[in-house]
Amino acid sequence: MNASSPPPPDTVFDWLDAEATKRADAGLTRRLRPRPAQPDELDLAGNDYLGLARDKRVAGSAAAAALRWGAGATGSRLVTGSTELHAELEHELARFCGAQAALVFSSGFAANLGAVTALSGAESAIVSDKYVHASLIEGCRLSRADVAAVAHADPEAVRHALATRRKPRALVVTESIFSVDGDAAALGEVHGICREHGAALLVDDAHGLGVLGEGGRGAVHAAGLSAAPDVVTTCTLSKALGAQGGAVIGPRRVIRHLVETARSFIFDTALAPASAAAALAALGVLKSEPDLPAKAIDNAANLAMHLKAAGLRTTLPEAAVISVRAPSPEAAFGWAEACAEQGIRVACFRPPSVPDGVSRLRLTARANLTESDVDRAVKVLTATAPRGAAA
Ligand code: PMP
Repeated sequence: MNASSPPPPDTVFDWLDAEATKRADAGLTRRLRPRPAQPDELDLAGNDYLGLARDKRVAGSAAAAALRWGAGATGSRLVTGSTELHAELEHELARFCGAQAALVFSSGFAANLGAVTALSGAESAIVSDKYVHASLIEGCRLSRADVAAVAHADPEAVRHALATRRKPRALVVTESIFSVDGDAAALGEVHGICREHGAALLVDDAHGLGVLGEGGRGAVHAAGLSAAPDVVTTCTLSKALGAQGGAVIGPRRVIRHLVETARSFIFDTALAPASAAAALAALGVLKSEPDLPAKAIDNAANLAMHLKAAGLRTTLPEAAVISVRAPSPEAAFGWAEACAEQGIRVACFRPPSVPDGVSRLRLTARANLTESDVDRAVKVLTATAPRGAAA
């Protein structure tokens, strides 16, 4: 074929079929499984760590806000999308976390993209833990900075990369609780290294906010860093807060800069008022029930302990995320399916979603799991474990 004879339109996407076959052959095809409104299965896959997504105070506030403000935000934040709810949520989030200011985005993904790109550029070096979430990786790619993706959870690797950087400004990027294995970054140590090298620190606290720290104020608060002038926290409103959306929390001048420059803030329709109201209500619940986060943590620890005692290769959780290693992508998929058949929904993580290529099941604990939920989960996971899953 030459350039003057274009392919017929029904063949231009033929290359997709070859890709799909490759994925299928490797056992890596993804599946969308619609969840019924009232599932009769035990959910150990979602991120509703505090059980607030269906809490009447939270879901009811969302419904009321939709009726009052409309189903959508109607425009971007700088045009018509900013409501009193957005301003109140930003104020309350900053106060709750002990920071100067906050800015709400339509998702945690958008918050990470916006924060990383706005806080770095061609004159910057970014030093990022190599296992950070895809949204941070995309932010790094778009930033035009020199990016060093360093060894996972290794402060000395951060130090080395900062010391040998070729750009004057530097941003260190990490998660607080890593989303695949649920392990924790040494935030205090990493921050100390940032200080020594004049770098700012961006912490994605998606899995820490609402779970860790005093009353769920998050991992950055727990590390004593929420008011630090050189630390920025990003988070999602869609996990422990049971709502939808994302936020950047930190020094007032950082937030002002994001309003002026973060493209995923400026050019994106604002967070829906219903989501803002739900997140606000969830913060209210956390303030009135400060013991709720500890229940999620205790349930995660209990579940992990029993899985380990049953011989499975389980991480010991720092928050509410537990991972269980599987011997292969096919085994992980079959294991998750077998659990689903027995009424337990767990997440299956396989390449390319896992940075180290190791397939696993990911389980998430909730504050409202009962003892019998935990017993049942352990029984089903053990009974359905594939050959090679035990330690
Ligand atoms: N960061 C981390 C660590 C996450 O796990 C997620 C959600 N998968 C996000 C960011 C993105 O947040 P959202 O789902 O609100 O876009």
